[in-house]
Order: sequence, then C-alpha cells, then structure tokens
Amino acid sequence: ETIETEDFIATIVNDFKITYPEIDIKTSFQTQNTNLVLDKFYLTTALLNVLENAVKYGCNTITIKTKIHQNQFSISIEDDGIGIEKKKQSLLFEKFYRVEQGNLHNTKGLGLGLYYVDQIIKAHQGSINVVSDLGKGTLFTILLKV
Ligand code: ATP
Ligand code: MG
Repeated sequence: ETIETEDFIATIVNDFKITYPEIDIKTSFQTQNTNLVLDKFYLTTALLNVLENAVKYGCNTITIKTKIHQNQFSISIEDDGIGIEKKKQSLLFEKFYRVEQGNLHNTKGLGLGLYYVDQIIKAHQGSINVVSDLGKGTLFTILLKV
C-alpha cells in the first residue's frame, strides 16, 4: 500500500505519547510528502517494538527523527535509557537474545521483539542498525528505500 510515511509515523508517535504521558517525546520530521509502499500493520508493530523497548529499558526521553538521505528514508529513535555494551550490540537482532542485566534492571521478555523488527524491515528491503553507549542511551536507525 502506498503511504504518506511521515503522517503515518506521526500518528504512531502521537498514539504512543498518549499511552506513555510520563515519557518526554521529541520529534523532528523532515520528510513531508514522501510516499512509500509499506505494510502498515507490520511497520507499526516494528516501530512500537523499538519505542516500547526504550521505555522498558529505562528512558525518560525519546527523540524521533525522519530524514531523507541518499535516496533513503531514515527513521531514527534515540533514547536515554540504560544503553547496551558495545560487544553485545551485534547480537540484539538474534532470536531470543537478551542482555543479562543482573540486578541493574529487572525486565521480562523473550528476546523476540528486535528479531521481528529486523525481519519486518528486511521484508521491506530496508535495514536497521543500533549504536549505543552503556549508561547513556541507545540509537536505532531504520533505513527504507525511497
Ligand atoms: P521481547 O521479546 O518482549 O521484546 P526483549 O525486550 O528482551 O523481549 P528485544 O526487544 O528483542 O527483547 O531486545 C533484546 C535485548 O536488547 C533486550 O533484552 C535488552 O537487553 C536489549 N535492548 C533492546 N532495546 C534496548 C534499549 N532501547 N535500551 C537498552 N537495551 C535494549
Ligand atoms: Mg522488546
């Protein structure tokens, strides 16, 4: 389905704000009138998974940006949560992978969320990557072909 992608993302973010009023959510959208062929249902699931992880792993603030760069539509989601050690970052998209957090943060999960996110983005011929600083926060960037 061809979708005005910025509006679509803005709607997801606005719904998310209502669900989590205690989180400070900042946005910068610079992609007006970009129509992409997307699966709305699956892409919503993917974005919500990343946003929910930010909350689950300790953020106060989430910054969401959309940009067009070198023929790619980029969606970046940055949080100021607990962060992830460098050597573990490449494992995040593996099925059932979870960082052992000891008593730092007691969360439950299956370690499937980011596995599905990666599959969904790949099914759109896109990519997702992560850059994170332990104790500072995490930045996920999703790239989709324009
Ligand atoms: P679920 O299957 O319920 O999503 P999960 O959240 O543990 O379980 P993933 O969403 O796949 O699984 O995330 C994998 C792991 O990556 C998490 O267990 C957590 O350790 C780490 N992680 C993911 N997102 C963040 C984030 N924003 N900040 C810090 N750590 C994160
Ligand atoms: Mg998760």
